[in-house]
Amino acid sequence: MSSDLRQRLAELDPEAVGREIHQLAREAYPICRSITGDGVRQTLALLRRHLPLEVHEVASGTEVFDWRVPREWNVRDAWVKDASGKRVIDFRAHNLHLLNYSVPVRRRLSLEELRPHLYSLPEAPELIPYRTSYYQERWGFCLPHRRLEALPEGEYEVCVDATLEPGHLTYGEYRIEGASEETVLISTHVCHPSLANDNLSGIGVCTFLAKLLDGLALRYSYRFLFIPGTIGSITWLALHRDEARAIRHGLVAANLGDGGAFHYKKSRRGDAEIDRAVARVLEDAEAPYAIEDFVPFGYDERQYGSPGFNLAVGALSRTPWGRYPQYHTSADDLSFIRPRHLGRSLERYLQVLAVLEGNRTYRSRNPYCEPQLGKRGLYRTLGGSERGRERELALLWVLNQSDGEHSLLDVAERSNRRFADLRQAADDLLAAELLEEVESPLG
Ligand code: ZN
Repeated sequence: MSSDLRQRLAELDPEAVGREIHQLAREAYPICRSITGDGVRQTLALLRRHLPLEVHEVASGTEVFDWRVPREWNVRDAWVKDASGKRVIDFRAHNLHLLNYSVPVRRRLSLEELRPHLYSLPEAPELIPYRTSYYQERWGFCLPHRRLEALPEGEYEVCVDATLEPGHLTYGEYRIEGASEETVLISTHVCHPSLANDNLSGIGVCTFLAKLLDGLALRYSYRFLFIPGTIGSITWLALHRDEARAIRHGLVAANLGDGGAFHYKKSRRGDAEIDRAVARVLEDAEAPYAIEDFVPFGYDERQYGSPGFNLAVGALSRTPWGRYPQYHTSADDLSFIRPRHLGRSLERYLQVLAVLEGNRTYRSRNPYCEPQLGKRGLYRTLGGSERGRERELALLWVLNQSDGEHSLLDVAERSNRRFADLRQAADDLLAAELLEEVESPLG
């Protein structure tokens, strides 16, 4: 069954799909997203050109555990004009210029009165910072520190032409039915405005990952969530407590377009199958990577991993949030994310899913000493080929460990061999009727 997924993985052209993801990011980049509002709807509409995902709306004021769905924010325009009427800060030039979730305002004021509402980065004076104020009513503007310092004394006029009114929180969901109801969750946030690595890279990789899985015969069911950060996962969990119980493995996707090494943040459990599957894939890829323990901050893995749920959800990224200088600034733009990095990120995700799909437990049907592989055409008859030797070692490992107690992932860890090679060996041994699968509960 999983051979279809492996086939798709074998056929994957990471560069080509990376270009498609980058194109999607390019289209979504100008949209002013937030945790609610039309920016999320427009973004989901763009994704729907690739994936027929469901769009859900949850009314403002809905109680979700200890939180409440906030009022919906939409912005038409925002600016600061100088005394001559010239826009010196202009939301239309870059949506990061507006403090995200600013309340409406229109007034004249002095530079001194304006300054507490201005945000800049003295340590990176050319960049516009990304700032939000979701849960406290404020208005403000963000601008390069160099430009803030150059603002002359005098009278200014500010306008935030926005609405903050009862409406909805919008999220997208895409489900794929597998043989089992046991579910793999892939979650990404959709609430950042013009920022590419955080978070268009995650949105794009998840969209194309779902597209690649579509139509395959799969062991697990899959649920992709495109949700505003924090409040989105809290809302989804509050409204889907039963469905959440079916989640066996999960990943939170973000920061997947930069050229940094892959970083995996383990689930709260720390030793779940997803933690082991990702570790195996990163090791098998033979490129630098880092694995880090769970911490209760970051993205939505901390909601999925809150003690009431304790779901096995980790976070697989390239350079993690906050650890690259472009993070949460105007420098996190379309030139910072590259098609080849996006494509390789997608490939890693697909490889992780191939491990989850292919991780089975077998029992040898010939457990008393090694079966003779040569007469079954499984053993090279002529020595010397390195590839042939690798293949034989994989066969011997799978045969030896298949006592009904050890999964292929166990074998991969113990032998330190590539999971894909062991999976292929198991398929060959099954075809030769040397193995039988042991029914084991998923997860
Ligand atoms: Zn962020």
